[in-house]
Amino acid sequence: MEQTFVLLKPDAVQRGLLGKIMTRLEDKGLQLVGMKMILLDDALLDEHYAHLKDKPFFGGIQTFMKSAPCVACVWQGKEAVDVVRALCGVTNSRKALPGTIRGDWGISMQANLIHASDSLETAKAEVKRFFKKEELFHYHKSLDPFLYSKDEKS
Ligand code: ADP
Repeated sequence: MEQTFVLLKPDAVQRGLLGKIMTRLEDKGLQLVGMKMILLDDALLDEHYAHLKDKPFFGGIQTFMKSAPCVACVWQGKEAVDVVRALCGVTNSRKALPGTIRGDWGISMQANLIHASDSLETAKAEVKRFFKKEELFHYHKSLDPFLYSKDEKS
């Protein structure tokens, strides 16, 4: 099964939305395989947002992302990368569709509550960046037979 990396951002922590957001992911049928609270530093942010380093708003993102701890997690499921991105909604919360996490609880481009890996390749790199091997858990999810057909479980 695919794994994807999710970061619940400082605004989700400050606004007390962690439970609601995690519930969305759980309700979808995704399996939580790793989770921790972390305060990001510049080195980690430079790496994580390397694709935005030359943007004028990069300094703003750095300040925002260090303003409070984040909750980092890894979710597992069939096509988990695409499934979680769809649950998040588009980057600009004002444009994100109702029913998505950003669409329901956000009104900002920067403070958009959640980061989720945008491809399988990125997911692998991000999981490795934020989690040690021993921080990820492999366990049987007893509801799997009711979440997937037999041919979907690979
Ligand atoms: P996403 O998080 O949807 O994958 P990006 O990787 O493009 O989007 O951007 C990373 C994060 O940087 C966004 O989630 C958002 O918090 C912030 N961001 C992106 N574009 C802007 C912008 N124009 N102004 C302010 N913040 C931005």
